[in-house]
Amino acid sequence: MKKQFAVIGLGRFGGSVCESLAKQGMEVLAIDTDEDKVSKFANIATHAVVANTTDENTLQSLGIRNFDHVIVAIGDNIQSSILTTLMLVEQGVKSITVKAQNDYHEKVLNKIGAHRVVHPERDMGIRIAHNIVSKNVLDYLELSDEYSIVELMAGKKVAGKSLVDLNIRANYGCNIMAIKQGEEINVSPNADDFIQQGDILIVIGADTDIQRMERSLFDEDEG
Ligand code: ATP
Repeated sequence: MKKQFAVIGLGRFGGSVCESLAKQGMEVLAIDTDEDKVSKFANIATHAVVANTTDENTLQSLGIRNFDHVIVAIGDNIQSSILTTLMLVEQGVKSITVKAQNDYHEKVLNKIGAHRVVHPERDMGIRIAHNIVSKNVLDYLELSDEYSIVELMAGKKVAGKSLVDLNIRANYGCNIMAIKQGEEINVSPNADDFIQQGDILIVIGADTDIQRMERSLFDEDEG
């Protein structure tokens, strides 16, 4: 059976979550208080309804507890976001993801039982900053305050070398999890696999180690 999702709040974030879920063939109920937004999603989502989710009876009548996953994407109105999340938790929704507007909002959402809190603007800001500082960092995923996964573009310094030549684990304490070569992904590279210029290396490690490795092996190619 198809998984059933409900997206509450059809702003830019909620709207793109809704659209992407629908494109992946999921059943999606799109909810907003704004009639215009709801009608915009009538042809995209499986169902689209005008409803105020801070009202307990409304949530009950939508059968919200039966959905596999509910995404709360109410942005500016933090009070509505918190109240909606609290009621979803009380009604026993299995999986609740909420967009937080700031750190205090995030703290409250975690306290009241949201299963996952996302901070898209902050996370995208961090990722873009890493990409701006080093053009070799294509993407960046923070795992904790100290550890990350980065996608690094292989330049001239590493091209034609094997993983054993570079000895990244011993020299920098990082691990290459995968190598993307065009459309192909080598998910568990061997020591004797060679790197070509333009390959994308997916590396996991401590931020300080990744930075050290990036400076000496990737920060390059001028000249
Ligand atoms: P984005 O940056 O993703 O556009 P935003 O931070 O601007 O989001 P808002 O526009 O504040 O987010 O809220 C997203 C949507 O949530 C709006 O379309 C708004 O009508 C809807 N919304 C706000 N409160 C409720 C509510 N109580 N029930 C249902 N929808 C709501």
